[in-house]
Amino acid sequence: MTENDLQALAREYPDWQPWLLVIEAVMCEATDSSWESYVPSRAESRATDAPLLAGVTITADIGKVRRWQDHLLQTAARSGAPKMLPLKAVRKAAVNTAALFEAALCENGAGLKRLADDLGIDPDPFSAVTALIAVPFLHACNRRWQPLRFPGWTAGYCPTCGAWPAFAEMRGIERSRYLRCGRCGAEWQAHGLFCFFCGNRDHKELGSLLPEKSGSARAIDTCNQCRGYLKTFTKLQGSAPTKIMLDDLASVDLDIAALEQGFKRPAGPGYALNSTVVAKPGLSERVFGPNV
Ligand SMILES: [Zn+2]
Ligand SMILES: [Zn+2]
Repeated sequence: MTENDLQALAREYPDWQPWLLVIEAVMCEATDSSWESYVPSRAESRATDAPLLAGVTITADIGKVRRWQDHLLQTAARSGAPKMLPLKAVRKAAVNTAALFEAALCENGAGLKRLADDLGIDPDPFSAVTALIAVPFLHACNRRWQPLRFPGWTAGYCPTCGAWPAFAEMRGIERSRYLRCGRCGAEWQAHGLFCFFCGNRDHKELGSLLPEKSGSARAIDTCNQCRGYLKTFTKLQGSAPTKIMLDDLASVDLDIAALEQGFKRPAGPGYALNSTVVAKPGLSERVFGPNV
């Protein structure tokens, strides 16, 4: 991601400026390699359809997570969007940071809503922002676990974090199809033509929508069985991991076209991770308590 990508998007969609500030903060934090020290080692034996993060226990320096959580919430509160302004009132000490990090990691929308209710705050902006708290750690997992990935991964969800793909890429002259994860930045090759959400292989039930004025480099693949859709971009090279969220946002016209035709992306994770986050107090917490 370059500053120009962000600036170009902000120029095209001026209303998005506040949200782009939040995304910029997340992508900047995602390049911090110190998150890699909390990435657990993975056992070799696991179910062949389980993402690498499934069922793991993560022992995180809760002081570091709390500082990042506060930075993200305050960036959102100061972004200029009236809906995000109340996030300013969320005090570090009042939030169960381990529970928040775990809910974000597992795409547990109900868990994030519960935490918002406990804080007496509007759950919509709170959930939208805090869902991104695990992203820097997820990028660290994706970097560290690159060599562990199953070469023959066939599931539609991300082999690292279990999320549904943000979009597909048809790459190179041979047009190999790769799926991309907007949470952890992973890429995995898709083998065969089927619906990545429901597994439907009936070609008569699979289609493609091409919005007007669209070149051949962009398409929307659809499934009539589950009514899911996936954006597909034809390009020579794949997007950098930190650019996936922006590429997803920049193609919102395709999302709107798909929604207008009655298709939607499935809600929630592709695979329920059931991972656990355990708080390891940072030095400042150990000396001065959790309120510093
Ligand atoms: Zn992922
Ligand atoms: Zn389907």
